Amino acid sequence: MADNFKNFIAGEWVAPASGAYFENRNPADWNDVIGCFPRSGPDDVARAIASAKRGFAAWSRTPAPIRGQVLQRVGELLVLRKEAIAQAMTREMGKVLAETRGDVQEGIDTAFYAASEGRRLFGRVVPSELRNKWAMAYRRPIGVAGLITPFNFPMAIPTWKMFPALACGNAVIFKPAEDVPHTAHLLVEILVEAGLPPEVIQLVHGQGSVVGRALVEHPDVPVISFTGSTETGAVIGAACGRLHKRLSLEMGGKNAMIVMEDADLDLALDGVLWGAFGTTGQRCTATSRLILHEKIHDTFLRSVCDRAGQLRLGPGLDPKTEVGPLIHEEARKKVEYYVGVGKEQGASVAIGGAEPGDKALAAGWFYRPTVLAGVQPGMRVEQEEIFGPVLSVLKVSDLAEAIRVNNDVHYGLSSSIYTRNVNSAFRAMEDLDTGITYVNAPTIGAEAHLPFGGVKQTGNGHREGGWAVYDFYSEIKVVYVDYSGKLQRAQIDTEA
Ligand code: NAD
Repeated sequence: MADNFKNFIAGEWVAPASGAYFENRNPADWNDVIGCFPRSGPDDVARAIASAKRGFAAWSRTPAPIRGQVLQRVGELLVLRKEAIAQAMTREMGKVLAETRGDVQEGIDTAFYAASEGRRLFGRVVPSELRNKWAMAYRRPIGVAGLITPFNFPMAIPTWKMFPALACGNAVIFKPAEDVPHTAHLLVEILVEAGLPPEVIQLVHGQGSVVGRALVEHPDVPVISFTGSTETGAVIGAACGRLHKRLSLEMGGKNAMIVMEDADLDLALDGVLWGAFGTTGQRCTATSRLILHEKIHDTFLRSVCDRAGQLRLGPGLDPKTEVGPLIHEEARKKVEYYVGVGKEQGASVAIGGAEPGDKALAAGWFYRPTVLAGVQPGMRVEQEEIFGPVLSVLKVSDLAEAIRVNNDVHYGLSSSIYTRNVNSAFRAMEDLDTGITYVNAPTIGAEAHLPFGGVKQTGNGHREGGWAVYDFYSEIKVVYVDYSGKLQRAQIDTEA
């Protein structure tokens, strides 16, 4: 019998009001049940919010450097447990151990950044236009933040949201993806152990359409930060617009790598394999389109297929594995569906395009790394997010066409160009319409201390990571102090 895990509400590990649970299974071996997690309902959410409001009242008044010290301890505990969390994460999410270690490391980096930010959180003192008057702007905490996260970065993405939110003095309600509740549990255990006052953090497991929705719709949660699909983001965006909530959306991508005729092709080859098939293509920044200059198209495509065909599929816990499973059956069905759509619309399967057909992998959601050749701009496999190990390859005749193809999608998260020509690199940096561009590196590889996010239908203008996210989790208050002892009218009593 698998263990029953609990929610963390009002400072205690508690069962859901309904008494109902859902199973968490290993995507590399669906017979392996990791645990049962609360199928929470609106009552659990309401209790979490009431508790978080109490937590906020005390935490928002705690000096920011002290808040930072708690996050420092969180980072130290994450360092100690890095390997154990990575193992647990691979078991429930599927990606290989090197990647889950990286996922925890991103949480560690984010914790130490947030800890030091507790001693910064700068405001500004600005000269007033009037004599004997001071003008200043500083940050205030906002309230209870509802954090809704996806399955693909079970540690990094929750910490990108949670640590800055806490450093800024907010209380947090964490609703992790149903596919990765165990990593969420391990993270919250650490926060509590590190000394975060218990009512400042709440963990509520359950379905997005129930728990996520209840958080989004509740009037006492003024801040919502969501990372996930563009479809879910649209639903949340509509609700938050109606309720006038502060909302950060980080959504889908359709990222392209451009390889010019003057590129270091060996370097580009390593890059595209990592970008397209790392995390089994389940990254918002995954390289899902490869735009090749016509002069190198045929040879480079052959090399990509050779190498993609050699990638070793298997459980992520096996050190020899290079590509793990997809997260669940629907994800694999979606990949199969899109490969079919690609073929119908005229693309050809250059390699992959099927399940591995290996009995040892039959209990997991594996799919062979797949390259679709002959893809034309506008085809669905060129426009829509597949979120699996499928690379669509296009041929172009020059840089201007490559940039046009890159930009002609609804998404705008990441892009990449391989070239040795500095003029092409700068042209691409300027004209690729994405939140992130890599030069001579694949579309993946964000660092925790830089802002992260996309344009167009990938985001709504906010950024995670780095310094930028602190603006999202704090309200700017402006204070004028007039010590002239008389009424001074701005814009009217100025001297010029
Ligand atoms: P998803 O949209 O299915 O789910 C994300 C979260 O939203 C989950 O916790 C889910 O329970 C919750 N949810 C679902 N319906 C909801 C509702 N009606 N109200 C409130 N919450 C709800 O996404 P996923 O499959 O977990 O993740 C994959 C998607 O995430 C991909 O589209 C990927 O591109 C995107 N993603 C984006 C970024 C980024 O930073 N731009 C990063 C990682 C993943």
